[in-house]
Amino acid sequence: MKIEVLGCYGNVTRRCRTTAYLINNKVLFDAGTVTEVLSPEGLERITHVCLSHIHLDHIKGLCALAEERFMSTGQSVTVTADKPVIAALSEQVFNNSLWPDFTSIPDPKRAVVCLKAMGPGYTAVAGLRVKAISVNHRIHTTGFMVKEKSKAIMMTSDTGWTEHFWLAARRERNLEFIIAHVAFPSRLHNPAFMSGHMTPTMLLERIDTFGLHQVPFFIAHMKSIFEPEIRKEIKKAGRQNLRFLKQGSVLYA
Ligand SMILES: [Zn+2]
Ligand SMILES: [Zn+2]
Repeated sequence: MKIEVLGCYGNVTRRCRTTAYLINNKVLFDAGTVTEVLSPEGLERITHVCLSHIHLDHIKGLCALAEERFMSTGQSVTVTADKPVIAALSEQVFNNSLWPDFTSIPDPKRAVVCLKAMGPGYTAVAGLRVKAISVNHRIHTTGFMVKEKSKAIMMTSDTGWTEHFWLAARRERNLEFIIAHVAFPSRLHNPAFMSGHMTPTMLLERIDTFGLHQVPFFIAHMKSIFEPEIRKEIKKAGRQNLRFLKQGSVLYA
């Protein structure tokens, strides 16, 4: 499995781009950054977009991708997510108000965006097996378990305290790594808690509670203004299994 980090911050600045992980050149997990970094050929190769939730920092690139597709090849892209995420996307994004309804452009049969709800178990997505796991954010959000052959990776997406995700991580024998979203430093516990995000302290507590010390973690989705503080905290914790996800990097699992 090849994982390309198109963006991995919790906000946009001149140097920071928002969450999007491209797997095997074809399947995009969240779409915070797409058309800014991929070539026209790279954009064409995307067949599926798996969405964790509809916050703008995770979908704005999908809006741009849909428009690009319409203007270029017209080839459809399948957007798949947990049922409530698909419903929200249809009602609140592709509604001809916030953005054109690309699920019926140019016409419903040849639409450039095809919405597909995931079932409760694993869904086959372009050679991967993907499972959405509900987490705890301000709106309906899921993390993901992604498998290819015997390898598995997980992504928390945006979440505060949550349990099912970590239980699934503990049960998975072939887990290569987890991408964990940590947005705020620990001194901002209350804003993090209120907005359904993690701090370093919360992540460390989850790792301890669920015995995940052997699992490699990549920390992502930092609010860039807090990056130096979060890095300092994680360094101080001295955990061997924690690293930071690097924008533009490529991981293999
Ligand atoms: Zn976010
Ligand atoms: Zn969010």
